[in-house]
Amino acid sequence: MDIFFKKCCSCKETRTLDMFHNSKNGKYGKHHCCKICRKNENSRKEYCKKWASENKELKSKIDREYRIKIKLEIIEKQKKLN
Ligand SMILES: [Zn+2]
Repeated sequence: MDIFFKKCCSCKETRTLDMFHNSKNGKYGKHHCCKICRKNENSRKEYCKKWASENKELKSKIDREYRIKIKLEIIEKQKKLN
């Protein structure tokens, strides 16, 4: 029996197989996310990229602060362990 439907792992909707892009590694030879989710994901990525290139200074500031935050969290955790 052919399987014509597949559940999207992202939006959890059951869609017909033609709503999924082909993928060699995916189940039934299809991508795990539907075309709609893939499109949304791509436009979000594009937006992030665009934002980062337009806000380089802010981006590096955020990255730096994030790294410091992670470091502090690790130090705190180690303190608790000792
Ligand atoms: Zn989806």
